[in-house]
Amino acid sequence: MPYADGFDLQVIAGKGDLGDNFKRRHDKLRITEIFCSLQGEGRDAGIPTTFVRLTGCPLRCTYCDTTYAFHGGHWQTLDDILEACHSNQALYVCVTGGEPLAQPNTARLVTRLCDEHFEVSVETAGALDIRPIDTRASRVVDIKTPASGEVHRNRLDNMHALTPHDQVKFVICSRDDYEWACKQLAALELPIGCRVWFSPAADALDPVWLADWMVADRVPARLQLQLHKQLWGDQPGR
Ligand code: SF4
Repeated sequence: MPYADGFDLQVIAGKGDLGDNFKRRHDKLRITEIFCSLQGEGRDAGIPTTFVRLTGCPLRCTYCDTTYAFHGGHWQTLDDILEACHSNQALYVCVTGGEPLAQPNTARLVTRLCDEHFEVSVETAGALDIRPIDTRASRVVDIKTPASGEVHRNRLDNMHALTPHDQVKFVICSRDDYEWACKQLAALELPIGCRVWFSPAADALDPVWLADWMVADRVPARLQLQLHKQLWGDQPGR
């Protein structure tokens, strides 16, 4: 999927040869937005956090709420991104997308953020190898359910690379998705301490239904409601 300026998603996703454009941009990342808000999901929900949203994603989930990050964006050096994080003065940084792992320089950014003592999380669809990402960061791996339309993209070998402070998320659209997620969870051998989240897909599944199912089945996972959406709806940059 080449972009107008030569930003080729197949290349950055590791499916092709590195082109000249990429080589020239070895110290840069394509960024959609950097902003400060409350973390709305996962272990750090409710904490003021700088979000670094990278541009581009090789997936097309049916429920995607960040389609505006598929294209566009602008190149920023790692130094400039670090400076933006420092000037936001939030201890927590969430590297997200789009799909941040689609740009190989994301691994360098995460390591530099960790070196500079930020508390870092990285949100990824888990369709790409998470091992290059510094284990000091919490890798939040989204296992795609059948209703996402991208279940075939899951790399379940990523599960072997998880550490106790990583996290696994299932976005659930239906009862079928829920049952599928429960089966996957039972089969996974996650490290003790690795948190598992079941999140209802917005406008697809009533959170109360999901909560009732989880209680009835004593599912060893946590219900996740997106705090930022309860506060601010779908506003980009919140
Ligand atoms: S992986 Fe994330 S950003 Fe990409 S299409 Fe799916 S929900 Fe959207």
